[in-house]
Order: sequence, then structure tokens, then C-alpha cells
Amino acid sequence: MTDTPLGSAETEVGNDKPLNFLEQIIKKDIDEGRCNGLVTRFPPEPNGYLHIGHAKSICLNFGLAERFGGVCNLRFDDTNPAKEEMEYVEAIKADVEWLGFTWGGDIKYASNYFDQFYGWAQHLIKSGKAYVCDLNAEQAREYRGTLKEGGKPSPYRERSVEENLDLLERMKNGEFDEGAKTLRAKIDMSHGNINMRDPILYRIRKQSHHQTGDKWCIYPSYDFAHGQEDAIEGVTHSICTLEFADHRPLYEWFIENLPVPSKPKQYEFGRLNLNYTVTSKRKLKQLVDEGVVTGWDDPRMPTIAGYRRRGYTPAAIRKFCEMIGVTKSDGVVDVAMLEHAIRDDLDKNAPRAMCVLNPLKVTLTNYPSDKTEVFTAAGHPNRDDLQSRELPFGQVVYIDKEDFREEANKKYKRLVIGKRVRLRNAYVIEADEAIKNDAGEIIEVKARIIENTVGNDPEDGVKPKGVIHWVAAHDCVDAEVRLYDRLFVDEAPDAGNKDFMETINPESLTVLTNCKLEKSLAMATAGQGFQFEREGYFCRDAKEPGLVFNRTIGLRDSWGKKDA
Ligand code: ATP
Ligand code: MG
Repeated sequence: MTDTPLGSAETEVGNDKPLNFLEQIIKKDIDEGRCNGLVTRFPPEPNGYLHIGHAKSICLNFGLAERFGGVCNLRFDDTNPAKEEMEYVEAIKADVEWLGFTWGGDIKYASNYFDQFYGWAQHLIKSGKAYVCDLNAEQAREYRGTLKEGGKPSPYRERSVEENLDLLERMKNGEFDEGAKTLRAKIDMSHGNINMRDPILYRIRKQSHHQTGDKWCIYPSYDFAHGQEDAIEGVTHSICTLEFADHRPLYEWFIENLPVPSKPKQYEFGRLNLNYTVTSKRKLKQLVDEGVVTGWDDPRMPTIAGYRRRGYTPAAIRKFCEMIGVTKSDGVVDVAMLEHAIRDDLDKNAPRAMCVLNPLKVTLTNYPSDKTEVFTAAGHPNRDDLQSRELPFGQVVYIDKEDFREEANKKYKRLVIGKRVRLRNAYVIEADEAIKNDAGEIIEVKARIIENTVGNDPEDGVKPKGVIHWVAAHDCVDAEVRLYDRLFVDEAPDAGNKDFMETINPESLTVLTNCKLEKSLAMATAGQGFQFEREGYFCRDAKEPGLVFNRTIGLRDSWGKKDA
């Protein structure tokens, strides 16, 4: 949290970027004295793991609080026990913290306020603004009318205050079955906005709740809860996505008609949609439940937990959210922007290392079998603060199968028989012979080192064609490497009436089990990220007990090329 004084309007956004529309509103409210302490909130429903869309909302709400010297609450909007679980509560807390944000005070739960909501429901009944209705869901739909036609009043609309209070009490005491009764606001059945046609305040749900246990069998609707939660917490600016714009009149109606301790205001912004991605907890849950992925934190998932396990950094996700900005309309962002943000971060910050994904043995026939050397390599080309590494060298090394051909044209700048290549940070070598198995596959290359070429060009003036990575066979480590690709092949997996489950990329995961890594990588900590030279960015998997690396992202965007 910055300690920028509230009201120093010129400087509070510590950069030169023009203020987004929400920052403008807040600045004006502060300048004109309508708000003396910004309070925002991030209000997830704990019915799944957070996804990249939530990251946008988190960065927005916590970011505003940071910039204007206010606070942002983390509040679980836990009004629907049927789909909610403690596992999700814990995961959401971990994700917000990982992104680097601190919530104001204790964690909040809508369920903390259930007693207050009940009192306010009674208040509405007493003021003739709520009633218990016996219409079932289907009947209620009929009575509600349509976008073009007004609704008609429920036959239960004129019940007396006493009868309503008694029925609500009995609903609370569990005397009625689920669906038998609801509590509704008494507003206007012919209102142009359907949300104002006597919306539901309470439903009967005979379900245990992860916070309140079996205390309640009636639960408030989102609309009856959300604004009142904001009011109780003193939230000043309640920021939500555009689909709630139509609910704003109702939000305001409750604030006007209840003795709430403060008067929050709702503002809407455009949700984040990413191409090649689905951002709906319900659909992500389906991927988990049907075993398409290994869990919510599968590195292919667009969840914050998935990105974390894949090797994304909080800085990259925050940078991405800053890049896309905040607007008043929905749009689709190219996932390449997110990929650019992580590539850029890791390019600057990830230590370099060598890993041979598809090993091919190279025996250096003029190098003594009992000799070894140790070379040193920089941790990063422009970062002296990153530790250098030791690279053992000996008679047998591994290079990647892709880096050798018996013959090749001039464009191929790797090892070819009769040609030279440099082993990165070590000798120039020249290939003499390919050894094959009975199936005709190359299983070994015989080559020679060129003397005095560590750090020098060959004395005979014949320069190597290129530089390739390698590891020494006598002192390297084995690891599994998991290569991930996009989870969906379709740019808009769930657009229109498409079934997103049918657009899944069958090649989203390739597991390589026999990879050879330079030995320093055995010390990698859980989640630590690296650039494997010439291959991409990888991180050590944080869950698997053995040495497993996940590919975070390739060195450059190859997806566009594939498309073409
Ligand atoms: P989903 O549809 O995935 O279940 P949700 O909106 O129902 O998402 P909530 O837990 O209610 O999920 O969301 C918490 C907050 O995150 C809300 O304020 C919501 O507006 C915001 N949010 C959710 N999805 C996005 C998104 N794609 N872009 C921006 N904000 C989002
Ligand atoms: Mg929701």
C-alpha cells in the first residue's frame, strides 16, 4: 500500500498515463469532497478458482486503493451454499496474495452479515416493501412478463405485514420446502427494467454452509446482499462488470429503502475476454470434473493457480492487466499480449541454463576419456547479479537431435558431418560420422574438438556455423519436461452456440521423459523459472516430487506461424 496522501490529485497516479474513467470519477469525488477515504472491494463467490478475468478485477480494485491511499476489502460473496467450498476460499486468498496485494483488515464474508440482512428483510416487510410469495419458479417467470411486456402482480402481493413477518420467520425455521416460498421486494411489476419487477430477496435452500453451518435454510439473493455488504463495509466505489449495469437501479433502491450505514455507488467496467481461452468458472470446472485437465492448477488452465504453476510471474500478470487498461465496453484481448508480458519478464529476469530435450550422444574422439574440465557460464547475459554456473565437460556430451544432420544446406547453422559448430560456452567441434541402429536411426555422432577454441575462434580460420546447447554425459541430471500448448484450437472456444469442449487442442501437452539438464538445475526450487537456452522459458514444477519442468512459454511467438 502506498502512503500517498488522499487528495493530492495531481500525483496520486504515480505515472504519466492518462487517468482511466474510474480514476477520473474517484479523483473528482475526492477533489469535490464526496469521498474522504476510498474503499473498494474484490468480491469473489467461492465457487471455483480465480481466472485471468478475475486478475483484471483484482488489479483494478486493489490498484485503485493503492493509488488513492485507500483500502480494498477481500470479501467472499458466499450467498449460495450449493456451489461453494472452503477449498475455493483458501485458493482465492492464496491467489490474491500471490499477485502481491494486501486486503484491508480481516477477510470479509457476506455470511457474516446474514443476521443483519434478515433484520433488513423484516424492515422492508414492515414498511410495506416486501412480501412472501408462494408462486413456484415457473409461475413467477410467467408473472414477470418479458422485455416488451410488463408483468402482472403476484396473487400473494397484498399479504399483511403480520402475515409476511410470520411466514418469513417460518421460512427461516425450516417449515417449508425448497421452492415453496420466496421473499420478494414489492417494487413495480410493470417496470421497464425486469430486475425491478419484485425481485427475489430470499430463497429456501436446505443446505449446509461452509461458514454458517446449518444455522440458515434461507439465503439472500445476490441483489439483496451485494449493495448492503458494500454499505456495511463502507465501500465507496463498488466496481463490477457490465452485466450488472441493469441491476444498478435495484442496487440503488435497496440503499435508498434500508437504514444502511453508508451509501456506496456502483460502477461498471468491461470484463476481460481472451481469445483461445474460456473465462467462466462453470466451464473451467467442467474441464476439471471431466478430467480434460489434471486440476484447477493444471498449467494449461487460465486460472491464476494454473498460470502460477506454469511459471507466470505476478509481475507479468499485473503488467498485462495494466496494458489492457480499463474500459466501459467489453472486448476480446489477444492472448499473445499475455504471452508477451511473461516472455518479456522472463527474458529480463530468468537465469539461463542448458537443457537437452531430445538427447543425442556425441563422442569427442580426440578428447581423453579420463579428462574432464569445468567451464563457467554467466547466469544471464545482462544481469551480473544472477549467479554464474559451472558447466562440467568431458568426452561424451548430449546435444539435441534437432541440432544434427548428416547433410544440410547452408541455412542449417548446426552440426553437420564435415562441418563445425560451437558448443555454447565450450569448444568448437567438427562432426565425422553418424552411428545408426538397425532401424536406421542415428544414435550417436562421432566428432572432434578443435583445440584452443574455448573463448577463441579456430586457429585455422574455419569458423563454426552456429552455436548449440549441450550437457556433459558424465555430470548432468535427468528430468521430465512438459511442453504445453494452448488448450483450445479455436480462437473463440465458447462463442455463439459452440461447444467449447469440442475445440480442445489434442496436443496441448507433450511429455518428454528423457531430458538431460545441466547439473545446476538439480538445485532449482519449486516454481523457479529459467530460460533454457534456445528452447524457451521453463519452471520447476511445484507439485511433483521429482525433477519436472513445465514450459512456460516459447522464446518467440510461433503460434501465428503455425496458423499460416
Ligand atoms: P464467472 O462467470 O467466471 O463465474 P463471476 O463474475 O461469476 O465469474 P465472481 O466470483 O462473482 O465470478 O467474480 C468476482 C469479481 O470478479 C466480480 O466483481 C466480477 O465482476 C469480476 N470478474 C469476473 N470475471 C471477470 C472478467 N472476465 N473480467 C473482469 N472482471 C471479472
Ligand atoms: Mg458470479
